[in-house]
Amino acid sequence: MEQTLGPERAAVIDPAAIRHNVRTIASYVHPAKVMAAVKAEGYGHGAVTAAHAALEGGADWLGTAHVSEALALRAAGIQAPILAWLHTRATSFADAIAEHIDLGVSGWEIHPVAEAAESLQRPARVHLKIDTGLGRNGCTIEDWPELLRTAAEYQERGLISIEGIFTHLAVADEPDRRETDEQLDLYRRALEVAQEHRIVPDLRHVANTPAALSRPDAHFDMVRVGVGVYGQSPFADRTTEDLGLRPAMELRTTVANVKRVPAGQGVSYGLTHRLDQPTALALVPMGYADGIPRVAVHAPVWIRGRRYQSVGRVAMDQFVVDLAELDTEVSVGDEVVIFGGDSGIEAAEWGAAAGTNNYEIITRIGERVPRLVVDSELTPLPGTGSAGDAQLPGQGPR
Ligand SMILES: *Cc1c(COP(=O)(O)O)cnc(C)c1O
Repeated sequence: MEQTLGPERAAVIDPAAIRHNVRTIASYVHPAKVMAAVKAEGYGHGAVTAAHAALEGGADWLGTAHVSEALALRAAGIQAPILAWLHTRATSFADAIAEHIDLGVSGWEIHPVAEAAESLQRPARVHLKIDTGLGRNGCTIEDWPELLRTAAEYQERGLISIEGIFTHLAVADEPDRRETDEQLDLYRRALEVAQEHRIVPDLRHVANTPAALSRPDAHFDMVRVGVGVYGQSPFADRTTEDLGLRPAMELRTTVANVKRVPAGQGVSYGLTHRLDQPTALALVPMGYADGIPRVAVHAPVWIRGRRYQSVGRVAMDQFVVDLAELDTEVSVGDEVVIFGGDSGIEAAEWGAAAGTNNYEIITRIGERVPRLVVDSELTPLPGTGSAGDAQLPGQGPR
């Protein structure tokens, strides 16, 4: 029998989907600019792959949590504007300034950032962050005037340049909740206070993906979008397709074993599941070490054009699928799609099966799973065979 010798496990990443998603979001939020969040290895897709695709799709900015993530993009040759917003005492602000990385500043960072700028004799570009209700990072409204005074002083001394004022929303994925209105009210007040301190930045930015897609009044000068860039819906009641987006990751492997078992057979550690009738079981060679949540139960997979469900506990390296009949066509080597691709299975369904969301499912795919970049819109060069040139990260230019 002919063997297809693909990788044993792969997260297949489609830059064309990322380009499409950014274009779709950009046209929706126009004239606001688009910052694509590529933190956490581009939500698991590969930061450099995601960054290039997002920029090609029309993103104006890239966003990362950490300066180290932004520096890695610079090291890969990416010159687009980048904002990094989550810092510690160990963050190298000097490296950020030297590499033209904009810095989110919520409070204490303003001093080490200004010091680093002074030692480099080059102004730091900062975006001041106000906490309008999320309770995470960001300056409280009480401390805001003091931060503005300090920032204005450093700006006068030429140590910083205040490029933006931003905040982050807590419940935009539930568009009916009034807390988003309260956050937007407080944000507008914070802008007024800034103006009283003669701080009027070019870039006011608030919206994450759900707000970009549901709250035009949150668009301001730029939106910061992550999950939508990767073709995932942030809303519980709307699919990726409903939003006109395309999933950029397909997670797949092949069936490692098939066997027929009698009624009463227990499945996997803890024997939490017992079969009530004779059936065939398929073994899927991916487990929690690969990012498949251990707690997921009755999660969908796609084999030979049909959906099946996982049974029993997910183990470190594998889980079991009930093929629901003895007389199955499924056999060893058949492709198993866990989500994405032609399966129609959304990462969000795995999120639901595991008590989490699609963000966590795509971001947690482990290092044991190679990211295989296959551009669905790549035209084959004459004489090089099939379309969809596959590249492992680290091979070729990107
Ligand atoms: C991750 C992040 C975003 C993007 O959020 P999505 O919901 O993925 O669009 C935007 N802003 C900040 C500050 C973030 O940390």
